[in-house]
Amino acid sequence: MKHRLSILLLLVSYVTLACGQIVFPSPNQVEMKKGKLTLRKNISMYTADTTAFYISLLRSEVLRDTSVKWQSKASAAHICWMNDPSLPPEGYKISINPKQMTITASGERGFIYAVQTLRQWVSGPAGKLTFACADITDSPRMQWRCFLLDSGRQYQRISTIKKYIDMASLLKMNYFHWHLTEGLGWRIEIKRYPHLAQVGGSVGKAEEQHGFYTQEEIREVINYASQRNITIVPEIDMPGHAEAALSAHPELGCFGLPVEVPQQGFTQNIFCAGKDEVLTFLKNVLDEVCELFPSPYIHLGGDEAPKGNWNKCEDCQKRIAALNLKDGHDLQLWFSAQMANHLKQKGRKAIFWGDVVYQDGYPLPDNTVIQWWNYRGHKDLALRNA
Ligand SMILES: [Zn+2]
Repeated sequence: MKHRLSILLLLVSYVTLACGQIVFPSPNQVEMKKGKLTLRKNISMYTADTTAFYISLLRSEVLRDTSVKWQSKASAAHICWMNDPSLPPEGYKISINPKQMTITASGERGFIYAVQTLRQWVSGPAGKLTFACADITDSPRMQWRCFLLDSGRQYQRISTIKKYIDMASLLKMNYFHWHLTEGLGWRIEIKRYPHLAQVGGSVGKAEEQHGFYTQEEIREVINYASQRNITIVPEIDMPGHAEAALSAHPELGCFGLPVEVPQQGFTQNIFCAGKDEVLTFLKNVLDEVCELFPSPYIHLGGDEAPKGNWNKCEDCQKRIAALNLKDGHDLQLWFSAQMANHLKQKGRKAIFWGDVVYQDGYPLPDNTVIQWWNYRGHKDLALRNA
């Protein structure tokens, strides 16, 4: 049976290839039909909303800027946008016959994905755009379709980040996990603490590692992503991977001393969890992060935070004793709970890397999500604890 299924799949992919139609990820259903729709100049279009972003996306990315005239009757248009509230929020249908293409969705998100499919479906140059006739029905199987970009270790220009977002959107991803702080660079402007980005953005050895994003630039990226149905989840890593922040503000470390910035990996220099000023500082940072990013999730890192300094720090040890915590790891759980609770007051959820639950101890609040990454080192320990 398995063997027959493989042959069938092979045949299906051969037929799809032969027609020149590959859409990735594969739509739920594609029924190929005879013939093709060819669109030359003056393409006529029927839509309830001529100003929607997905219309301009279709015009530039699929119709290659061919001129369009608006039709008031659906039946007379080459391209017809129809609303069907019964379709799932991210689902869509495309029906193409030799005279007309009909795109149906229940709202903006579905229409955006229909355009992304058509970007892959269209062939030919402007003036002779062709679409193989077919009925396509699609909606995502997974609710969380995320990609991660590390702008902490390596600075990327805004134009590069937009290219990533555009490619992710072509693949119908809907979350962008933006790793914005790292030992090698603090990339997000915090108005209250300008040194963080001004100093912390330039601690890497190489010049191309230097730079940070102003809040205005970040807003621009958030808007660019949101038009493409992508929510940006910012990651502000704490208490570890903080050497860049500690270069700008040594007083946030356990001993208040200048720190070494590792060119690879991480060091013992992490935010001090014993000093109240550090917690206040980080909460103030999170206030600005939440004001910028509308995402329901804020990633707080929590990975790879060695406890060498905490074990020697008077303030950290005092905190452990005062709260009757077991050890440094328990202190990280307490610290993480303070930050997650702060986000909870703002109606946000906190995401932590699995490292935070490598041991039991102080309870995390119920707005916490654990992201499992380190199978190699810790097998499924974090998964079990989460
Ligand atoms: Zn400390």
